[in-house]
Amino acid sequence: MEQYDVIIIGAGPAGLTAAIYASRANLKVLIIEAEVNGGNLSKTYEIENYPGIKSISGLELANQLTEHGQKFGAKLISGEVKTIENVPVKKVVLANGDEYESRALIIASGTKERTLNLPRAEEFTGRGISYCAVCDGFFYRNKEIVIIGGGNSALEEALYLASLVAKVTIVIRRDEFRADASVVDRVKDNEKISIITKHVPEELIIEDDRIKGLKIRNVDTNEIETVSCSGIFPYIGADPCTEFVDKSLLDENGYIITKNDMSTDIEGVYAAGDCIRKDLRQVVTACNDGAIAANSIIKYLKNKK
Ligand code: NAP
Repeated sequence: MEQYDVIIIGAGPAGLTAAIYASRANLKVLIIEAEVNGGNLSKTYEIENYPGIKSISGLELANQLTEHGQKFGAKLISGEVKTIENVPVKKVVLANGDEYESRALIIASGTKERTLNLPRAEEFTGRGISYCAVCDGFFYRNKEIVIIGGGNSALEEALYLASLVAKVTIVIRRDEFRADASVVDRVKDNEKISIITKHVPEELIIEDDRIKGLKIRNVDTNEIETVSCSGIFPYIGADPCTEFVDKSLLDENGYIITKNDMSTDIEGVYAAGDCIRKDLRQVVTACNDGAIAANSIIKYLKNKK
């Protein structure tokens, strides 16, 4: 079995930054990505809070990071991690049965979007319900769409979709947004976007096997209202991808608990990025975590020699 100094689980901004730092220190690095290189970043229309780059498409930044992450010799493979064993070295087992060993591990597996919990929602995912505005927005040109949620993802993607579609209706369950104030202001100023507060999705309206609208319920009065639309984009938050992680390392929401040096309670296991317990989940904070985790491992492996 091929041995590595570090295995990094996840090729998002945290994992790729860790790969840059670890491989520049001449460590032998393997990165394992289950889905898309660049992580959730690749599905984001525009990034405008990454210092030094005033505006860049999420996909472009994801591609640049993916290239950069491999520039100093890190190997990137595709695979879904099923289990991690910890003694005497770290052993990572993939869903296809492949196994890889390393002296240290960085878990940077990110988060996965929550799906809409309504009858038939799964059946219509990809044909009326989408979790990726950048991928699917084009199909709704000049049509009406609904966005559910009031966080940064919902509002940023609403702004993008408003440039394509006839009308965007944002439905939020409180009477205030969770997103940053600057994005909220831009959404409120956009003529194509209307906002319905204090409502939650109740039922899909389906005719001729197509989404034709969404019934929403007022959280105070329980009254039902109908919004007609051809597409629904739920952005109702995300959960950490930590199913394969030892439960003793997780908080009550499944996020990995780390110390300041990104170490966990298991020796040689570090974590970084959106999958750890923290307040601010941004590309820049993910990169920060990845750099710290790699630097800690460089010191840890030196001391182990
Ligand atoms: P989020 O910040 O957790 O927001 C989720 C939104 O969905 C909230 O408005 C929430 O309402 C609503 N919601 C949750 N469950 C719901 C349900 N069952 N029914 C209806 N509405 C529901 O999620 P996010 O926007 O995906 O962002 C995730 C993290 O990534 C955040 O830390 C965010 O700041 C970060 N992010 C940053 C950027 C950026 O800086 N450019 C871009 C995207 C994401 P409540 O507010 O009432 O709970």
